[in-house]
Amino acid sequence: MAAVVNNETCVACGACVDACPCGAIEVQDVAVVSDECAGCGACVDACPTGAITVE
Ligand code: SF4
Ligand code: SF4
Repeated sequence: MAAVVNNETCVACGACVDACPCGAIEVQDVAVVSDECAGCGACVDACPTGAITVE
């Protein structure tokens, strides 16, 4: 399980970066998830546009 960002709905706000306990997200043009992702889902709850799912 890992977080997946929808590049069409991500607005690069950075909320998921702050929510991630693993430091697995950075914001470039959109949020980008690294291999450090543990699949916890905290970023899903933090995202205001529903742009992240855990798959
Ligand atoms: S699922 Fe958890 S570990 Fe993975 S990017 Fe989101 S907050 Fe970070
Ligand atoms: S919280 Fe959602 S909209 Fe904001 S940077 Fe992360 S994925 Fe994009």
